[in-house]
Amino acid sequence: MDFNLDDSQKKLARQIAETCRERLPERPTAHFSPEQWAVCGEAGLLGLSIPRDYGGQGLGALSTAVAMHAFGHSCADMGLVFAAAAHQFACAMPIVEFASESLRRDLLPKMASGELIGSNAITEPGAGSDSTALKTRALPQDDGGYILDGFKSFAGNAPVADVFVAYATTQPEYGALGITGFVVESERPGVMVSEPLRKVCLRSCPAGEVTFAGCRVPVANRLGEEGQGRFVFQSSMGWERACLFAAFLGMMERQLEETLAYARSRRQFGKAIGAYQAVSHRIAEMKFRLESSRLLLYRACWGMDQGDPQQLHIALSKLAISEGALASSLDAVRIFGGRGCLEGFGIEEMFRDSVGTVIFSGTSDMQREIVARELGL
Ligand SMILES: Cc1cc2nc3c(=O)[nH]c(=O)nc-3n(C[C@H](O)[C@H](O)[C@H](O)COP(=O)(O)OP(=O)(O)OC[C@H]3O[C@@H](n4cnc5c(N)ncnc54)[C@H](O)[C@@H]3O)c2cc1C
Repeated sequence: MDFNLDDSQKKLARQIAETCRERLPERPTAHFSPEQWAVCGEAGLLGLSIPRDYGGQGLGALSTAVAMHAFGHSCADMGLVFAAAAHQFACAMPIVEFASESLRRDLLPKMASGELIGSNAITEPGAGSDSTALKTRALPQDDGGYILDGFKSFAGNAPVADVFVAYATTQPEYGALGITGFVVESERPGVMVSEPLRKVCLRSCPAGEVTFAGCRVPVANRLGEEGQGRFVFQSSMGWERACLFAAFLGMMERQLEETLAYARSRRQFGKAIGAYQAVSHRIAEMKFRLESSRLLLYRACWGMDQGDPQQLHIALSKLAISEGALASSLDAVRIFGGRGCLEGFGIEEMFRDSVGTVIFSGTSDMQREIVARELGL
């Protein structure tokens, strides 16, 4: 087993660190700007796993995770990192894997370059963890197309999105097997998007509600077959739970470096606070969470690259990184003391940003459910 990164992975990570240092903001702005999005596109950060034929970098899951780790490690604006990740893993990847060739050719190069912004819209007021309880209907039409009616909540990037991957029920009588995925361009009549929601975490990524009211969508915009939506969503969640969360692993690494430096320099009672076991053991726990999560992430991505994306390993990786990020962020706040609660040091921001990680892409409870199911319980 080789735990070393190969030369191309190391080179890409170095390039991403350089781009973040030189061209992206040190602190998040209100919402990410078109210029910042364009920088991400130029640096290849919006199409890491999109195949080269469609303008992306064509990376496998492990290399994509290494790149996302570098992005989260070097860019202090996790809202922007999240926006870029949701765009490619929950919107572009379903298009890569399930859209018609003409839709791929039309959309993916523009998504990889940043000309288009993507959003994933599945969650509804009554369908969160139970994503099969969708009320949004896609009514089949005589011409083969569909009319969409429904309401989506919490869609990341929605207020600025050009293209949605949205899920609706085409055959309500079949429950989970009656769900279908669609590509819906934001300019289609019948698509309405709310103002950005105010949230505790990832504030520079605007999230919003989306209403589909009599929105006509051609059959060419359907992802896969009717009733395949559950598999489309599951596959996109595989990418998101592994590769989006790699960015939070990068954030944890940055947090550990900053906390170590602080524990060495901050003196109380005549000593560096890192000399007190209460502090050093907290830091040891942060390192333990970081390294154990990293191994679970690599294991999950390795399976994906073997063509065997195992839900068990993907769920374990997502659970470890999200719970680890939240626990370590609280430890960092404690070690920074009062400064950990102030805006401007970045420590409270990492704490806020990590809160959402145990909720989106499936809550921690739902990851435990997947693990239990995979163990045959
Ligand atoms: C920052 C952020 C970004 C998001 N981005 C997107 C996005 O881009 N697109 C999108 O569609 N959605 C997005 N979401 C929505 C997110 O996917 C849902 O919030 C999440 O799936 C949980 O759904 P819910 O909020 O309805 O909670 P609920 O499903 O109502 O869960 C409430 C609580 O009950 C627990 N629970 C529920 N069912 C079970 C069960 N069977 N066993 C054990 N415990 C259970 C949950 O774990 C949780 O603790 C985002 C959310 C956040 C916070």
